[in-house]
Amino acid sequence: MRLPRLRFTIRSAMTLVACAGISVWLLVTAERVRREPNAATVCHLGRYRDNGEPFAYGHGSSPQVFWSRFWRRVLGRPWPGSFVCPCKSEFERTFAKGRKVDYLATSNDMNEMHDLMGPLMIEFQSSKKRRKTGRIN
Ligand SMILES: [Zn+2]
Repeated sequence: MRLPRLRFTIRSAMTLVACAGISVWLLVTAERVRREPNAATVCHLGRYRDNGEPFAYGHGSSPQVFWSRFWRRVLGRPWPGSFVCPCKSEFERTFAKGRKVDYLATSNDMNEMHDLMGPLMIEFQSSKKRRKTGRIN
C-alpha cells in the first residue's frame, strides 16, 4: 500500500508557522489575562445622579469583562479605558432601587476605588452640610 504524497512548500510552511505563532500568542495572552492579580474582581467608583452621593461597588468578574480585557490586551489598549461594565443596569435595578448612577472609574483594586472616593465623599458631605444650613461655604 502506498501512502498519499504530501506536497510541502515553503509558502505552506510559512503559513503554518504564522498560524501557529498567532494561536500561541492568543492563548498565552488569554492565560496572562486570566492569571492577573485581582482579575477575579471588578470595582467601580460611582455617583448617584440625584444627589451626587459617591459609592464604591465591586463584583466578580464575568465573561464580558474577561473578553474585554483580553481584546484590550491583544490590541494594546489600556484597561479599563472606555469599558462600560454590563453590571450598571443591574446595579441600578437592585442596589440603587431605581436611582440612576454614573460610573466614574473602574479598576480591579477596591483600595484604589476607596482612595479615589475619599475626596468625593468629603465634597459630598460638605455640600450636604451647606444645603442643610443654607450657608454659602
Ligand atoms: Zn461592573
